[in-house]
Amino acid sequence: MSRPEPLGNTRRMSLNTATVREQWNLEQCVDGCLRHGVPAISPWRDKLQAFGVQRAARLFADNGLTVSGLCRAGFFAAPDAAGRQKALDDCRIAVDEAAEIGAQSLCILAGGLAEGSKDLGDAHGMVRDGLAELLDYARTADVNLGIEPLHPMYAADRACVNTLRHANDLCDDLGDGIGVLIDVYHLWWDPQLAMEIARAGRHPGRILGFHVSDWLVPTRDLLTDRGMMGDGVIDIPRLRGWVEFAGYDGYIEVEIFSAENWWKRDGDDVMTVATQRFASVI
Ligand code: ZN
Repeated sequence: MSRPEPLGNTRRMSLNTATVREQWNLEQCVDGCLRHGVPAISPWRDKLQAFGVQRAARLFADNGLTVSGLCRAGFFAAPDAAGRQKALDDCRIAVDEAAEIGAQSLCILAGGLAEGSKDLGDAHGMVRDGLAELLDYARTADVNLGIEPLHPMYAADRACVNTLRHANDLCDDLGDGIGVLIDVYHLWWDPQLAMEIARAGRHPGRILGFHVSDWLVPTRDLLTDRGMMGDGVIDIPRLRGWVEFAGYDGYIEVEIFSAENWWKRDGDDVMTVATQRFASVI
């Protein structure tokens, strides 16, 4: 497959607010998007709630920003029914928030093992059942649920859905209203990735998002050492080609967790480099 031409501009870029988590509040993120020609935003719920959900909905609308996603909810596995119910209650709040701000999808992290448990199969079952129950609610609110498989290093504590294959299986099982978020950082290593992206593409609308950053060598922290696009080893244009060949033409979210580098820089400097790399690398 030939590689896509660079976009040359930011017309499909979305700012995931985690990228400037330490520098900017939500209002500053919106201003930053406007200054740097970024037409979409994907807020995290902490920033959203700190600003006020209704207020944020107006802020996005007044500034013509598309909300490509809302991060995040899920974490379904728990040792008892009360714990599982608590997780679902929070998920429903997140669905309401996503509806209020018109988010194109709600990012769902499966969550890891139930506390105190070593039973991964049991956790998988609780994720499936939790998703099924949440999906009923999300459908009535007209909010798409996007399962984001995370790198297997997070299986114990953040997400026990670690491959696109597993996410596709869940979507096949659960039906309409649920899809996948494809994050290059989490999935680039998977030899079945191309096949599973193509499989997702056979269901129109299943691919709900495409997230970019880069895998640094060495990676110094499991959570907060992601690279800027182009600074690592992920062949992002190849992955973007697969996703677009599968029919995805939505926003591409820049999502960089970087405690020791990008979070320590001026927010505008981060945006300048991110928009340049968006054009030259992706
Ligand atoms: Zn992501």
